[in-house]
Amino acid sequence: MTVSTATLSDIRRKIEDCERISPEDALCLWREASDADLRSLAGQVRARFHSPSACTYLIMRIINYTNVCVAQCDYCAFYKLPGQQGGYILTHEQVFAKLDELLALGGDLAGFNGGFNPHLPLDYYCELFSAIRDRYGDRLEFYALTIAEFMYLADHANLSYTVAAERLKAVGVRWITGGGSEILTEDFRRRHSKFKYTVAEYFAAQRAIVDTGLRTSATMVIGFDETIEERIEHLERTRAFQDCLIADGHGGALSSFLCWTYKPYFTQLGGIEISTSEYLRHLALSRIYLDNIPRIRTSVLTQNERALEGLLYGADDFDLPIEDEVTQLAGATISLNFDKLLATARALGFTPTYRHVVTGWNQPA
Ligand code: SF4
Repeated sequence: MTVSTATLSDIRRKIEDCERISPEDALCLWREASDADLRSLAGQVRARFHSPSACTYLIMRIINYTNVCVAQCDYCAFYKLPGQQGGYILTHEQVFAKLDELLALGGDLAGFNGGFNPHLPLDYYCELFSAIRDRYGDRLEFYALTIAEFMYLADHANLSYTVAAERLKAVGVRWITGGGSEILTEDFRRRHSKFKYTVAEYFAAQRAIVDTGLRTSATMVIGFDETIEERIEHLERTRAFQDCLIADGHGGALSSFLCWTYKPYFTQLGGIEISTSEYLRHLALSRIYLDNIPRIRTSVLTQNERALEGLLYGADDFDLPIEDEVTQLAGATISLNFDKLLATARALGFTPTYRHVVTGWNQPA
């Protein structure tokens, strides 16, 4: 990345004029803009899509259907190798019990996230998702897998990404999220997750998902050992991918962008958590950079109540999670005191409205 010759005031003027910022501008903003500057500039971009006091939320749970995984990412405290004590696969009944509890708590979105389990064929997923659609219909929506798991199961079944996506769509799947992306640079993947996928494979799989008519999203995790340049490369790749989708008639196929923070406890990589203020600055930078993704989400799962300050830094949407074993095993804590969390958003000047993914799944983001 070359050094920006633009000054902070040049970049400020670009944003005010709805011009796109470059990677070099983003680096300059990160290094030189104050928190107040970033907050104000992110607020300007947010206002292109949302009224200033509006925000949305949903109540959801991640269902970790198996913790058996062969990928061995060094930042993961969740996985067990095949045959290792403590490995599990949830039965349909156990999944249904979790979905029933979600509905009882007022939620209607589940995200499935497990490991790269070599004992689970594609049929396991098809039977599970078909059974969920049969039992719950449109009472709830589910994100079937992350792109990372999707790639593994397609490869494992010896199917192209397109055929695997079609098989899942045929049993009622509507969404495969962009989860499992962490930092999308080849160097990061080699350093921490060399058995998972390459960046090129990730976007090829996501493109096949979109071309099949499924919906997807963009995600990111910060706070490992990535450089600011790597964070900006991830944002640049995400923005460019959305540009391609829009140019090819898939307008808004990346429905949202969610960034959360790495939890380092009990992982091989270890480390210390980044501060909330660093997270908020990154959210603001993401909102400014991703000018083609209207919905920017802040992570209550990893930043708890303070995530809601992200609404002041350009975010417009958040989850109230009730479970995610992957992050909880690495140190995340969850509160079911939804009233308190929503009151925090109101105290910051926002009016949170529940966002039903079920009814909105085929609408523009
Ligand atoms: S992060 Fe996911 S893919 Fe990586 S080891 Fe953990 S469960 Fe496996």
